Amino acid sequence: MVGHTSMACSKPFFDDMRSRSGVDPPQTEESTEIPELVNDPLQTVVKPNGTVTSSVRELLECPVCLNAMYPPIHQCSNGHTLCSDCKPRVHDRCPTCWHELGNIRCLALEKVAASLELPCKYQGFGCIGIYPYYSKLKHESQCVFRPYNCPYAGSECSVVGDIRYLVAHLKDDHKVDMHSGCTFNHRYVKSNPQEVENATWMLTVFSCFGQYFCLHFEAFQLGMAPVYIAFLRFMGDDNEAKNYTYSLEVGGNGRKMTWQGVPRSIRESHRKVRDSFDGLIIQRNMALFFSGGDRKELKLRVTGRIWKEQ
Ligand SMILES: [Zn+2]
Ligand SMILES: [Zn+2]
Ligand SMILES: [Zn+2]
Ligand SMILES: [Zn+2]
Repeated sequence: MVGHTSMACSKPFFDDMRSRSGVDPPQTEESTEIPELVNDPLQTVVKPNGTVTSSVRELLECPVCLNAMYPPIHQCSNGHTLCSDCKPRVHDRCPTCWHELGNIRCLALEKVAASLELPCKYQGFGCIGIYPYYSKLKHESQCVFRPYNCPYAGSECSVVGDIRYLVAHLKDDHKVDMHSGCTFNHRYVKSNPQEVENATWMLTVFSCFGQYFCLHFEAFQLGMAPVYIAFLRFMGDDNEAKNYTYSLEVGGNGRKMTWQGVPRSIRESHRKVRDSFDGLIIQRNMALFFSGGDRKELKLRVTGRIWKEQ
């Protein structure tokens, strides 16, 4: 038998199932189904390296919601399984055979799950981790390879990907300005500064230190007051973002405002950063004052610098 591979023999459940199915062949109408579910995984599912192919995962897939099942896993008196979220939804009737569900727990399947080790679902993004079934979800919620959401703030954009992919997406699809270097000097000009609600979002991407940073500039309503905010986000995880510091400076007419901050990771939403006022906030009156002229046009020069903390 294939079960001679050491990993298969070391899994008590599979040994158990093998002997049981050999001694006591199923008699019910499911007899065609059980060998497929039980014997087949034995022969083919457990690979010599101990990882498991999709058929056992299919066993652990709830037939109703198609999510992976976690304890308590329920079953009907004919052995059909179902997740605990779906049990109340099917009004206590097995969705497969329509028998009453009762309160039978499928401990065997829960134990199979406990013995499984599966690759992180972000394998395709570079994660090489293999995790026990019950801790896989937790890992995936924090996996550093999990893709990022598009950091563009001006529209709902559902694009996700790694940083390299998102940088190309910002450039090609959102036509975002790209700059290289750790200092910048940017001019924001707006002809109708009274319109705060329809303010344009400005996003510029900087590359320096081999990393990418997003400089956001936008108008929003702070209480009753229309204000502008400029802040930097780091295209990467929070623990790395903390290695950088940035400063922003805006001024004109002999006045100047400066801000020094730590870029926030793009894991945090743009809105969350903005609503915590973690950036350079300029009152509109002050912004128009900086702009000079007849206050009909907003003309702000924002300079800044990014550096790495040692
Ligand atoms: Zn379900
Ligand atoms: Zn059933
Ligand atoms: Zn992972
Ligand atoms: Zn996007």
